[in-house]
Amino acid sequence: MDDKLKEACGVFGVFFQDPEKDAVPLIYYGLLSLQHRGQESAGIAAVYHKTIECRRGMGLVGEVFTPDILSQIRGSAGVGHVRYSTSGTSSIENAQPFVSRFKLGSIAVAHNGTLTNADVVRELLEDAGVGFTSSSDSEVIVNLITKNYKKGLEKALTDTIKFIKGSYALAVLTDDALVGARDPNGIRPLCLGKINGGWILASESCAIDSVGGELVRDLEPGEVVIINRDEVLSFTFSEKTRRAACAFEYVYFARPDSVIDGVDVYGARVRAGQILGRESAVSADLVIGVPDSGIPAAMGYGKATGTPFGLGIVKSKYVGRTFIAPDQALRERAVSVKHNVIQSEVQGKRVVLIDDSIVRGTTSRRLVSILKKAGAREVHIRVCSPPVRFPCYFGIDTPHRKDLISNGNSVGELCASLGADSLAFISVEGLLESLESDSRKEGPPAGYCLGCFTGEYPIPVSGETGYAAS
Ligand code: SF4
Repeated sequence: MDDKLKEACGVFGVFFQDPEKDAVPLIYYGLLSLQHRGQESAGIAAVYHKTIECRRGMGLVGEVFTPDILSQIRGSAGVGHVRYSTSGTSSIENAQPFVSRFKLGSIAVAHNGTLTNADVVRELLEDAGVGFTSSSDSEVIVNLITKNYKKGLEKALTDTIKFIKGSYALAVLTDDALVGARDPNGIRPLCLGKINGGWILASESCAIDSVGGELVRDLEPGEVVIINRDEVLSFTFSEKTRRAACAFEYVYFARPDSVIDGVDVYGARVRAGQILGRESAVSADLVIGVPDSGIPAAMGYGKATGTPFGLGIVKSKYVGRTFIAPDQALRERAVSVKHNVIQSEVQGKRVVLIDDSIVRGTTSRRLVSILKKAGAREVHIRVCSPPVRFPCYFGIDTPHRKDLISNGNSVGELCASLGADSLAFISVEGLLESLESDSRKEGPPAGYCLGCFTGEYPIPVSGETGYAAS
């Protein structure tokens, strides 16, 4: 019941040319750097002398991979996964990577995203006698590749990928190759990196940095990269590609030290704050950000408006996950366990509070209340994303439409409900402007998914009428 949209997964893969090198320690550290993308389960599959071994478990990377478990697998290539469930239940059966062993070899698949036609494909496969061990849509991908494998890896991948719809960033391990694939709209991120004697695939560039690698480039929408001992092959499997990268990655999901599709996440957040300052400045004594992603934006807002920037809210990094199902009162109390106010900073001041997004509204309401209790004279909320009014179908956990507080409430009604003195959201145009950067202008044209803000999705979605065709 967190008051934020949740990223579903992170993937990380390593391939060393030297068969005696061990990729597993690097995958472990890569997954630690992607922990923010999923905290429910973690897994690593590695290939050693043509045999794939996998270890998966429920919990954080550090909890699942004790020294003992880590010592049980090794291999010169491997893939890892961190998961937060959006499709399929939160259980060990759905933890990834998924491994399939069959007559011609074995594969392990790590998937970030959600297939919009998983039910149909699953039914077709079940009718053809294929068995499933989980409720995850990612297992559909494994079974499709396995079914087509006799045609050769490249053909099996293209046939599989042509069949599936939705969002996917894939890291696939075979007996002798590491494969990366990004859906035709590039909704979820996936990048390629290099490390001494090897290659890396990662959901975010921060994970490549963390293991001492070097970012080479992002995979293009609709691109497959096959890395084997002799070469790195790249081909585009889809004729029709249109970039529609998830705009929310920059607002909230990604780590600020990542660069996605040529746009640095930290810079985009600072620019969003500057644009908010231009679009909806208010007379105030202090601007503060809701940690962590609100802080760069608050700095940008302060710079644009001349409002002094300060730290007014402290976030406890150690609250972690909770497996109890608290009632509303306990849940609201948990917000003050997570966030506390520095009273001396805000007392007697007119405060601008910058947040990355408002989803259910519970956190914002509580923050306004504790700021006022600490003596803030006024609290003006400014939000770095447009109102979230629609669900996401592409690998992000969104509450039911009825629980999205911006769905059906005007900004004025929302402001009153949060108890704030004023409230403003960045415009859709402003958000897109924040995603422009000098390096991006040199690359292929940018394009973003804005579905949860506008209801216009890059792929037709069953039950939704909005489809941004161009
Ligand atoms: S609908 Fe929203 S959260 Fe989902 S991919 Fe699009 S921008 Fe991202």
